Order: sequence, then C-alpha cells, then structure tokens
Amino acid sequence: MPKKFAPADRATAAAPSAHSTGPRTGNPDTAIRLDGVTKVYGSGANAVHALRGIDIAITRGSFTAVMGPSGSGKSTFLHCAAGLDRPSGGTVTLGDQELTALGETALTRMRRDRIGFVFQAYNLIPSLTVEQNITLPLRLAGRRADAARLARITDQVGLTGRTGSRPGELSGGQQQRVAIARALITGPEVVFGDEPTGALDTMTAKEVLGLLRRTVDGLGQTVVMVTHDPVAAAYADAVLFLADGQIADTMLAPTAERVADRMSRLGAWA
Ligand code: ADP
Repeated sequence: MPKKFAPADRATAAAPSAHSTGPRTGNPDTAIRLDGVTKVYGSGANAVHALRGIDIAITRGSFTAVMGPSGSGKSTFLHCAAGLDRPSGGTVTLGDQELTALGETALTRMRRDRIGFVFQAYNLIPSLTVEQNITLPLRLAGRRADAARLARITDQVGLTGRTGSRPGELSGGQQQRVAIARALITGPEVVFGDEPTGALDTMTAKEVLGLLRRTVDGLGQTVVMVTHDPVAAAYADAVLFLADGQIADTMLAPTAERVADRMSRLGAWA
C-alpha cells in the first residue's frame, strides 16, 4: 500500500488518514501516485534495477523533495512520475488518469497540458520575450493566454515590467522565475523540479525556493522537486529519501539539519 504523506500543518485539514489511499483513481486528495513502479535499464547481466518497487501517493497542494545518494534513482523516479519515461512495471496515476495506460500521443498531450517542468538549466528560448516564453505551453496546445491569468502569474513570480525582455537580458534567478511561470501557466496538476536551484547562488536559490513554496501555499500547487541540497529540501513539506531504487524513508516538516543527518545514514552508509 502506498505511503501517504501530507504537509504536517495540513495533515488534519486536507489529508485522509495515513493509510487511506482511497480508490485506485479519482481520490481528489491525491495529485500523483505510483504503485509498484520498477525501472530496469538494460538486460541480462548488464541489467540495472534503478527503481525496485516504488509505492507513493502525493497529496494535492503539497511540496515534496526527493533526495538520495547519487545513483539512488532520483532522476529515474522523476522521469517516470512525470511521464518523461516509462516504467518497466507498475502504474503512475496523475489525478484520475493512469499515465502508464496512455499511448505516446496522449502521454505527450498530458505532459504538455497537465504537468509543469522546471529544470536546472532554465531551457528558455532566447529569441522569445519573457511573455512569449511563459505562454509557449499554451500556444503549443492551441490555447490562448488568458490576459488576467498571465498578469497574475507574472506578478507572482515578480516579473511584472520585464515581460518584453529577452532571457539574455535577465539574471539566472530571473530566468528561473520565467521557467517557473511557464510551468504554472497551464494550471498543471503537478510541477516537477529537477535540481531547480542547482545552477543558482545561495541567495538566488533562496528566492526561487521561496517562490516555489508560495505557489504551494498561495495557489495550492503540487510541487515535487529532486534536490541534493538539504537546505532546499527543508522548504518542502515532506522529504522522500531514496536508496538503491527504493523509498528508504519519508520525513515530514523537514529541517536542513535533520535531512542532512538522515542523508548521512542512507544506502551504503546506513
Ligand atoms: P540519481 O538521479 O539518484 O543519481 P538515477 O536515476 O540517475 O539516480 O540512476 C539510478 C541508476 O540507474 C544508476 O545506477 C544509474 O547508473 C542507472 N541509470 C540511469 N539511467 C540509465 C540509463 N539510461 N541506462 C543505464 N543505466 C542507467
């Protein structure tokens, strides 16, 4: 049965009891769930078991950090959960839709319309303005940008007044804020971050993490972020620790100290 966790301060208000995972699909409190997810790269003697049976249900409107030693399966977890890669076994369900049951075209559409991505490299298009970068996912989906929503999101990420700039005219932190706005513009079920502060100095990283935190608190956005930084993980409501392709532990209301301590006793260090 999947582990279920919720932000500590909302646990009583929003989340069902610890092991009440609800029906397989359609539990309105669950943004994304993985059931028995495995991933094997290669085969035979060369097979690498990157994920060895992941069961997790992530509560809507929560901020989850995924941590673990190098090679523990964090990227593979993120890619499988976000529909960027297919598990070898098990199911991934986003809202009421089982991603693992979809064909390529439908999966591509789900990724575009219902999942947001923020990567370490901002992946902005240099020739487009800030506004054009932010609204790109909508244009790709053939949807028009709602001016009020665009203005609200631009304001939330602190880029009002910069919408006509090109990425090259912005600092790293500002570029990552454009990337966050682009991830939020479609109103996705989940925003996945892959080391989103990995390229930023600590002061700018703090701003970006504070912004992700506010999207959870203010917009009810669900955020799942892979990080190797205990300070970054402490911004989350819960930390998922991976070791050797399995969930070794979860921690609610993390602090950087507790996260660092737990990390020092994972996998081969256990
Ligand atoms: P992490 O992100 O925690 O460093 P990964 O998910 O990248 O871990 O990798 C988990 C395991 O799977 C590692 O042993 C890694 O070498 C292996 N792996 C990852 N991607 C591939 C791939 N494309 N082909 C073969 N092995 C891979």
